[in-house]
Amino acid sequence: MTRAFASAYRDPKRALPDPFAVEKLKRVDRPTTRIEDGQVPRVDERDGGFYRAGQGEFGPTVEREYGRFMDKYALSASLLHMSKMLGQEDMVDGVVREGVAPGLEDPIANARHIKELAYFLRSDAVGICELPPYAVFTHSRIDGSPIELKHKHAIAILVDQDWKTSAAFDGRDWISNSMSFLAYSNSGFIACVIADYLRRLGVPARAHHAKNYQVLVPPILVWAGLGEMSRMGDVVINPFLGPRFKAAIITTDLPLAIDKPIDFGLQDFCSKCKKCARECPSGAISDGDKVFRNGYEKWQVDVEKCTSFRCSNQYGSGCGTCIKVCPWNKPDTRFHQAINWSMRNIPFSRNFAVLCDDLMGYGKPDPKAKWWLDVEDVDGRLVVGKTFKK
Ligand code: SF4
Ligand code: SF4
Repeated sequence: MTRAFASAYRDPKRALPDPFAVEKLKRVDRPTTRIEDGQVPRVDERDGGFYRAGQGEFGPTVEREYGRFMDKYALSASLLHMSKMLGQEDMVDGVVREGVAPGLEDPIANARHIKELAYFLRSDAVGICELPPYAVFTHSRIDGSPIELKHKHAIAILVDQDWKTSAAFDGRDWISNSMSFLAYSNSGFIACVIADYLRRLGVPARAHHAKNYQVLVPPILVWAGLGEMSRMGDVVINPFLGPRFKAAIITTDLPLAIDKPIDFGLQDFCSKCKKCARECPSGAISDGDKVFRNGYEKWQVDVEKCTSFRCSNQYGSGCGTCIKVCPWNKPDTRFHQAINWSMRNIPFSRNFAVLCDDLMGYGKPDPKAKWWLDVEDVDGRLVVGKTFKK
């Protein structure tokens, strides 16, 4: 057999170059959210909030604003343009080279190689799981065509939306959509490169990102050990990035060692915290208990309220207030690493987390760190964008 990987490369003790200690997190056999696998239906991508907004389901104002809520701000329009290019069919998928490259038989070595590659391409966290059948959409929102995807594995990559900008914005101002699409386009780029690379090695692979998904992301992130489901409904929180990331997926038939789900105490934390429910400007996040629906037991979010607010926000482009205020959204400093360790490992400390977070002023904008312009395109004319005053 050709020795494509050096023997040192196969050493499980060899450290991965992950920016965060993802590999050292506590692992569990099942996700911390109750999921009844046999009861989870596959969903149609056209059931998503933004698709429905574009179809006029949330009223004519939201439908009209949906048509301009990204393009009204120059930077989010640029990033969306880039994401759309990456969403073209020949970017996410393509011809698989005949004959598989030598040296790809070992699932452990393959998983290490893919993770090192993802970090080389500037991912912030990477995890691998088997592709749950219910994570595959029934239909595409692009053309309504039915989706059949039989790949065995899913590789999930996370990209940070940027702590410094997150500290500066107020949660719903002009940079909000740009933060999302910075991470969507960067993670999309990484996913497209990895999928293309695998196909060039003779292995079937497809990239999935914001402008061309065939899979539902949250269950994949949970099974791949990159986060837990949160009070924000389908939003997965990572212990080091909080909710301040976007994800892209590569599905593939490459033999891969899989990761296990993580447990860092988020279910207990969210049951006490409720800061996102308190601060959400549309009232979309519940401060009540979890509900069992469609095979999942999770906190519910009012998708219509959230989507309508994000599309129609007159004081900015989009909304990320829940991301901004979440106590897990912090910089990676020694001090915050110590607090983060306590929140993960000492349940008692969670009782004071929100109080301390509020007292220290987290969740408030830092005007000294602001760097972007407030400029809005209104009917083809550039004007100073309105800003929200509390
Ligand atoms: Fe609420 Fe904004 Fe988060 Fe939607 S994005 S749930 S409106 S805080
Ligand atoms: Fe959970 Fe609090 Fe974050 Fe909301 S703000 S997701 S309740 S930790």
